Amino acid sequence: MDFKLSYSTEQEEFRKEVRDWLQANIPEDMRSPVDRLDLTDELYKFWRDMHMQLAAKGWLFPTYPTEYGGGGLSGEYETIILEEFERARVVRTFTNSYIFPTLLVWGTEEQKQKFLKPLLTAEKIAFQNFTEPNAGSDLASLQSKAVRDGDDWIITGQKTFISGHGDVDLLFGPIVTDEDAPRHRNLGYFLVPSPSPGLELQRLNLLTGHDQSFIFMDNVRVPGDHLIGDDHQGWQVTQTTLEIEHGGRGIAFPRDEALENLMEYANKTTRNGKPLSADPVLAQTAMDAYIDSHTSTLFAQRNFWMYQARQEMTYHGSQNSMFLKEFRIRNADRARDIMGMYSLLGVQEPRAPFGGQPEVYQRSSLTGAHPGGTVEIQKVIMARRMGISRTRERAAATPSTTGVSGV
Ligand SMILES: Cc1cc2nc3c(=O)[nH]c(=O)nc-3n(C[C@H](O)[C@H](O)[C@H](O)COP(=O)(O)OP(=O)(O)OC[C@H]3O[C@@H](n4cnc5c(N)ncnc54)[C@H](O)[C@@H]3O)c2cc1C
Repeated sequence: MDFKLSYSTEQEEFRKEVRDWLQANIPEDMRSPVDRLDLTDELYKFWRDMHMQLAAKGWLFPTYPTEYGGGGLSGEYETIILEEFERARVVRTFTNSYIFPTLLVWGTEEQKQKFLKPLLTAEKIAFQNFTEPNAGSDLASLQSKAVRDGDDWIITGQKTFISGHGDVDLLFGPIVTDEDAPRHRNLGYFLVPSPSPGLELQRLNLLTGHDQSFIFMDNVRVPGDHLIGDDHQGWQVTQTTLEIEHGGRGIAFPRDEALENLMEYANKTTRNGKPLSADPVLAQTAMDAYIDSHTSTLFAQRNFWMYQARQEMTYHGSQNSMFLKEFRIRNADRARDIMGMYSLLGVQEPRAPFGGQPEVYQRSSLTGAHPGGTVEIQKVIMARRMGISRTRERAAATPSTTGVSGV
């Protein structure tokens, strides 16, 4: 079977249009740094504006409906755009896009216009406000509380590990609305506006880079229309966000830059006059890395196309996520075997191969095993959905399976 994607003449013309536009409008020194978290204020400002320009062209979120600020394009176009974005080192959007499918499924028309549109046009930014100090994998143990006050809600609690660079306008996630109700039926799903009186973000200092924050909420007043779904439906709404985060939408163009660099290093670096790849042990190691990476690519693309085709999915999302998290750690080990200490030289080191990308990979492959459900949690979900666990579950509602427009 040939897995290579092929494109029509019209699509190839579109690719050229995207490539030429990016070439003309993104100066070389404004492209993504090797460590994508090393964004200067100047780069951040440039990309905030650039994202709005890309959204206006329909390229930032290509498959979302035009009436809510998306591109109204098909999945093929998303693949082309992402490929060109990778080539041009476009800085990825600052908003957490898992909120889009959630709003499409659960938001009212007014909420889609009010919240989804400014996010899809990149005027506003949302972060995912889920994890608490005592609620990570076991998210339903969360303790932040929302109490009604007239039409508003007053929210108090603490969140942690909340990812996002720079400013934020909306923090989305579940909060306890009814302490007497049973677990999973005691939550609402809120968009907490930021800044708000009583709301504080404090940056976390992590090995992975400084892109996570604590969120403290002390009697934060949130208007009633910022509740998505009803005040006891938060767990179901949360499941839609998690279905996407766990890999359920796949990836349109899953490029593996670390693998590309590793292959090039093995082929071009010489030791005792011979390329490293001439060493049979290192050649085996490189091939293991290649096979893992390509298996992951196929899972990600399969899910993307199943999602676009609105096919019923079960374990597929978590399989994609679990495999990705595990193989990246294996390939980081292999990079150390092939590159040795050079894989640990940071972006500031002149002798670091590929500008320090392998070192960024060493860190991100480890911390990447945690967000959006750990490896173990993905296996728990797969087992439940394959019917070999003490509990059974089905995939949550997504735009793909509920039939709303915009996948
Ligand atoms: C870089 C990074 C970015 C993040 N971004 C966000 C964000 O934007 N928004 C947000 O809300 N959160 C974010 N998180 C938090 C992330 O979702 C949690 O770290 C994750 O859910 C795990 O929770 P925990 O850290 O409390 O670990 P725990 O839940 O305490 O787990 C500890 C260990 O126990 C294992 N374990 C737990 N339960 C089981 C089980 N039932 N069976 C088998 N093993 C189990 C886990 O796999 C893990 O190895 C981020 C985390 C990181 C590291």
